[in-house]
Amino acid sequence: MQIELNGRRTGKRLEYLSLYRKWRPQSFKDGFVGQEHVVRTLHNALLYNKVAHAYLFTGPRGTGKTSAAKILAKAVNCTERGENPDPCNQCPSCRRINDGVSLDVLEIDGASNRGIDEVRDLREKVKFVPVEGDYKVYIIDEVHMLTTEAFNALLKTLEEPPPHVIFIFATTESHKVPATILSRCQKFDFKRLTTQEISAHLSQMVAAEGVAAEPEALQLIGRETDGGMRDAIGLLEQSMAYAEGKLTVADVRGVLGLVETETLLALGQAAADHNLVAGFQLIQKANEEGKDLALFARQVAEFFRDLLLMLWTETEAETSFNPEEKEIARTLTEKIGMASLKRGVTLFLEAGTAARRGTEGSLPLEMALLRFLTETDDHTDDNALSQTVTALEQRLAKLEAELKVRPPAGPGRQPTKAETKKVEHHKIDMGTNPADYGPKQTGPRSKAVDPEPEPTTAGIKAFDRWDEVMEGVKQRKRTVEALLREGTPEGLYGNKLRIRFNMHFHWEKIKEPEYTKVVMEVLQEVTGQKIYPEFMLQEAGNKPPEEKPPEILRKTLELFGGEITESKEEDR
Ligand SMILES: [Zn+2]
Repeated sequence: MQIELNGRRTGKRLEYLSLYRKWRPQSFKDGFVGQEHVVRTLHNALLYNKVAHAYLFTGPRGTGKTSAAKILAKAVNCTERGENPDPCNQCPSCRRINDGVSLDVLEIDGASNRGIDEVRDLREKVKFVPVEGDYKVYIIDEVHMLTTEAFNALLKTLEEPPPHVIFIFATTESHKVPATILSRCQKFDFKRLTTQEISAHLSQMVAAEGVAAEPEALQLIGRETDGGMRDAIGLLEQSMAYAEGKLTVADVRGVLGLVETETLLALGQAAADHNLVAGFQLIQKANEEGKDLALFARQVAEFFRDLLLMLWTETEAETSFNPEEKEIARTLTEKIGMASLKRGVTLFLEAGTAARRGTEGSLPLEMALLRFLTETDDHTDDNALSQTVTALEQRLAKLEAELKVRPPAGPGRQPTKAETKKVEHHKIDMGTNPADYGPKQTGPRSKAVDPEPEPTTAGIKAFDRWDEVMEGVKQRKRTVEALLREGTPEGLYGNKLRIRFNMHFHWEKIKEPEYTKVVMEVLQEVTGQKIYPEFMLQEAGNKPPEEKPPEILRKTLELFGGEITESKEEDR
């Protein structure tokens, strides 16, 4: 869902790498962004002299693989390093490596040296001891490009590596590396950098370069470059060349061929007003201005996604709106409503795929808008919609009546917050289909008004993609999976997924940033949203602390014309 910068649009890569070269990290502590798990492990290896003979750095492009490889190569050969795991960048060895003239550190492009002959040649050379430092370091980029024969030849060396040789393989496609090779390597997964990590780094850069830039512009760059710093810096540099004076979000959009937020907001307004003509005009205009319609469709899908996110979190969602736009967007979310927004995302994603074929002009977008305005969730005509609404209203009314006649739970006793909360959870279930969004009451109806305390695990099953999350975590880090298994997901509160632990040990452990990060990343992967894990400890004999239920409840009820209970208002 991100723009490919080596893109289909212009057919040329963005090779504006001078800033990138200038800002290439020279050591882990200085300018190397993200990948804490990699940095920590390598630091320890350097500190305790446990550097391996073969590493495989895998991950998306521009995430720091070759930079890390070079830092490691410098560190093992640095003469001034002492106790410090990072290279000094001052000694002759460090300098020669930085200048690319070291005889001991060889960078090989796997794509152009992929044959058996090259590898045989390499095998001959590794026998010779290093010229200057302690280690010969071979950095083979795009190692997955090697031929099978080349891999086999390489394997022989990896099986009995000379003590002075370190191989660092880098690849974007580790699944193409034979298992025999993989098993000889210490493997590190380089993660996509977050928008936040990228924009923070860019903001340091522009400050140092003396360039004024809107924070939203850097945010947008971070968002559009799919977690790769190299592309982000390339896009920054290109946008800087395009900008006159201060770098604005409009400049970045201009470079990327994106329409202005103004257009998106106007389209949102047309959607909210059911104004098909106005919507068609906007699409036509974008077409006439020569905008990439596939990109436009994707922007609309992301725009709806942003609106959903705002409706969902109420907190500072990671959107590219400036404060004024945010206000307008917020009004639109209320008007359009969650179900339609969800549908909008799907419809415009489909339209984007159709528009990419480029044979039907603006038709796919227009049809998406038409469907958006005329179809409903499960039905295709207004009659069906009104029937659905009526049915929901009836269920709601019935529930409210039930609540009113409910006998007090004890003499003169006010309902506890816990009871209130239960009822409201129940109400979500009545009002909409929250399966993708929040805690769901799966028990029979009568349970909701049952004065007995509800098991705190009621919301778990609602989080129906938990298995996927566990699987994802398992793929990344088994330790985290083992810990997470001890926890119980309770439900979503805003953008937080609450997970409760019984044992202090597990709770304490999973809160370590490295572990939390794994959970967070997998949650984001599975749900496509920024969902943060919130680890709670179930103290012996203590009930879990009460919390106000998700804001989504209120929105949901509004959407379906229901009412909010008084207790909810008190809660707020
Ligand atoms: Zn040095």
